[in-house]
Amino acid sequence: MSISIPIFGNGNESVLYNPDELIDLFLNCTADGFAIVDMENRFIRINPVYTQIFGFTEEDVIGKRFDEIPHSDIVKEIIKEVKQGKSFTNMIIQRFHKDGTALDISVTYSPFRNSNGDMIAIIATYRDITHTVLMEKELKRTRELYKLITENTTDMIKVYSKDYDILYASPSHEQRIGYTPEQLVGKSIFDLVFPEEMEDFKKMFQKIEETGESQVFQVKMKTSTNEIFHSESNISPIFNEKKEVESYVTVGRDITERVNNDAAFRNLDRLSIIGQLAAGVAHEIRNPLTSLKGFSKLLKSTTNKEKNDQYLSIITNELDRIDMIVNEFMSLAKPQAIHFEREQLTLILDSTINVLHPQALLHGVEIKINYPTDHVEINCSMHQLKQVFVNFLKNAIEAMPKGGTVHINVEKVDHNRVVISFTDEGVGIEQERLNYLGTPFYTTKDKGIGLGLTVSNKIIQEHCGTMKIQSQIGVGTTVTVELDCL
Ligand code: ADP
Ligand code: MG
Repeated sequence: MSISIPIFGNGNESVLYNPDELIDLFLNCTADGFAIVDMENRFIRINPVYTQIFGFTEEDVIGKRFDEIPHSDIVKEIIKEVKQGKSFTNMIIQRFHKDGTALDISVTYSPFRNSNGDMIAIIATYRDITHTVLMEKELKRTRELYKLITENTTDMIKVYSKDYDILYASPSHEQRIGYTPEQLVGKSIFDLVFPEEMEDFKKMFQKIEETGESQVFQVKMKTSTNEIFHSESNISPIFNEKKEVESYVTVGRDITERVNNDAAFRNLDRLSIIGQLAAGVAHEIRNPLTSLKGFSKLLKSTTNKEKNDQYLSIITNELDRIDMIVNEFMSLAKPQAIHFEREQLTLILDSTINVLHPQALLHGVEIKINYPTDHVEINCSMHQLKQVFVNFLKNAIEAMPKGGTVHINVEKVDHNRVVISFTDEGVGIEQERLNYLGTPFYTTKDKGIGLGLTVSNKIIQEHCGTMKIQSQIGVGTTVTVELDCL
C-alpha cells in the first residue's frame, strides 16, 4: 500500500495524492523534456514535452533502444560514461527531430539510482535552445558583418559618448585625417573641428537632442597636420531605455573634391556673368562719356561763371554714374571672401539692379520694385547673395527678348522670414524642363553655361533658405526665395 501525500492547493482543503500520480503529474507539467532509459538502453518513460521537442511519441520509442533512433556518436559515448556514474549538466549538442530537422538541445544526463544506490536507469532532461542558438549565431554574424563594414569602409565611422568623447573610430580615419583609431579614442570630437565651426557644430547637436532625429552636417575637420578636410557627416543619436541620448554614431564622407568643385562652379558662374554683362556696361558708360566730352568742350569755350558751374555739376553727376556702374561691376568681378554679416536686404537688391540696369535698358526691360516700408535685415554673405540675385534678374531679362517688366517683390512673412520673388513676363519654362533646372551646365541659351541656378541654389542652402521656381509657358516665371531675417 502506498502512502498518500496531502497537498494544499488553491482551495483551503488539502487533497491526498499518491506519489506515482504525483510523478506522472510532474512529468506532464514540467517545461523540460524528459526521458528515462534503462540500463539496457531502452526507453521506459518520456513526457509530452519530449514529444513536443523531438516529435517522437510514446508509441514510437517506449521499449525501443535509444540507438534505434538517430543519435550522434557523442551521445552514445556520454551514455556510456553516465552508466559509470557520471553526470552531465546543460551540455549543448545537436540532435534531430523525427522529421530530420536539426535541433540545438541543452541536455542534462544523470544516473537514476534506487534506494540501495544501484543505478537502474538514466534520466535525460532536454531543453530546446535552437532558437537561442540561432539568435546568437545571427547576432555573431551581424556583429562580424558590421565589423567588416566599419573596418573596410572608406567612410569615417565614429561612435562617441553623449559627452562627445570618441569611443570608436574606424581605421579609415588614418588615411583621411592622419589619426589612427587608437589616437582618436578618448579624444573629444570637438578637438577635430576648426574653432570657427564650433558654434554651428554645437547647434547641430542641440537640434538632434531637441528633435531626436539624425542630421547631415558639413564640417571642416582638422587633420593631424592641422590641414582642412571637408567632411559631410550623418550624425545619429543612440537612445537608452529612458529615451535619452546615450551616444552618437557618425558616418563621415570626404567631400573635399565636391567643395572644390562648388568653388570652381561659383567662380565660373561669376566670370561668365561678368563676361556677358561687359557689353551692357560698356554701352552704359558710353552715354555719360559722350555727354562728358560735350560738356568739357563747352567748359573750354565759356567764361560765364554761372554756366561753368552748371556744366561742372552735370559732369560730376555723370562721373558719379560711371563710378557707380564700374564699382558695382568690379565688386562682382572681384573674388570675395565668404563671410556672414548683418546686411540690409533691399540695399543688396538695389545694388543688383544697378549691375543689371544696362542689360535691362539694352533689352527694353523695366524693373519694378515693391519693398516693405521697414528695413529687412538678414545675416548673409552679401557678395554671394548678390550673385544669386544677379542670376535671377539676368535670367528674367533674358527670358524677355522683346522687353517687358520684372517685378521684384519683398515681403516679410512671420516675424523672422522674408520672401523675395522675381517675376518676369517671359517665355516661361515647360513643366518637364523644370526638373532639369539646377543641374550643372543645363542651359537652353546659345551663350548660357547653365551654372546660375546650380550655384544660386547652393548659396541659398548655405543661407538656410529655400528656393522655388514656378512657371507658365508664354506667361512668365517666378523665382521665389525664402530666407531668415533678423
Ligand atoms: P543659363 O542662364 O546660363 O542658361 P541658368 O542656370 O541661370 O543658366 O538657367 C538654366 C536654364 O533655366 C536656362 O537656360 C533657362 O532655360 C531656364 N531659366 C532660368 N530662369 C528662367 C526664366 N526666368 N525664364 C525662363 N527660363 C528660365
Ligand atoms: Mg542664368
